[in-house]
Amino acid sequence: MKIIFHERFYEVYTTDPAAASGRMEAITEVLGKDFQWVTPSPARDEDLTLVHTAAHVERVKRDRDVYEVGILSAGGAILAAQTAYDGEPAFGLIRPPGHHASPDSCWGFCYFNNVAVALRKLMKEGKIKKALILDFDLHFGDGTENAFMGNSRVDYFHPEETSNKDFIRKIEGHLERAGSFDILAVSAGFDRHAQDWGGLLETEDYRAIGSMVKTFSQKICQGRRFGVLEGGYNHDVLGYNVRAFVEGMA
Ligand SMILES: [Zn+2]
Repeated sequence: MKIIFHERFYEVYTTDPAAASGRMEAITEVLGKDFQWVTPSPARDEDLTLVHTAAHVERVKRDRDVYEVGILSAGGAILAAQTAYDGEPAFGLIRPPGHHASPDSCWGFCYFNNVAVALRKLMKEGKIKKALILDFDLHFGDGTENAFMGNSRVDYFHPEETSNKDFIRKIEGHLERAGSFDILAVSAGFDRHAQDWGGLLETEDYRAIGSMVKTFSQKICQGRRFGVLEGGYNHDVLGYNVRAFVEGMA
């Protein structure tokens, strides 16, 4: 299990909660040395424009700090996807998040759609044709949906339920009925935790979801699975939630 991380993700590049001081430290301290850490290269403009318009990329470039950390974040997702394709599960411990970034616009603390760029790159290289994206963040990933609008080869699934048990059952049911895919990507947002904004999931629920991701990917797509960080804002619990998910998925 590889953790993709870059020192620059510690930078406070804006004033939003995803960029808050101490957020990444809360995760790296809990993950510790128990995993293999890998440093990504920045995504190139030609990677970004697999999803985004050139005009969108140029707009983000106007804020140099955001752009520089943003291309490392997208590069982290690319490396996580490539690692998964090569046969080892990976988690992109990255920020800024990406699932609210559409082809020509962005909001919600997102700039480039990390998971969409990573999948589009594997598709362009002819490595995969079909992908399943599980997004368990509290918020709907409108950017990811827009990035794959009208593309029947990508299934974007964002579960909604009012109890944690039903939430997990809903994911399980979707995975069981999902059909065949070449890779399973997870937009892993932890803001649905009981002590975060969503107030629903327990830490052990993330382990259960990670474990389902592993089992399903082994059944359907030769174990090819990766996750990337989206939301999650309570620094007291975030690291433990990420760790539970990553251990479940490993
Ligand atoms: Zn969120």
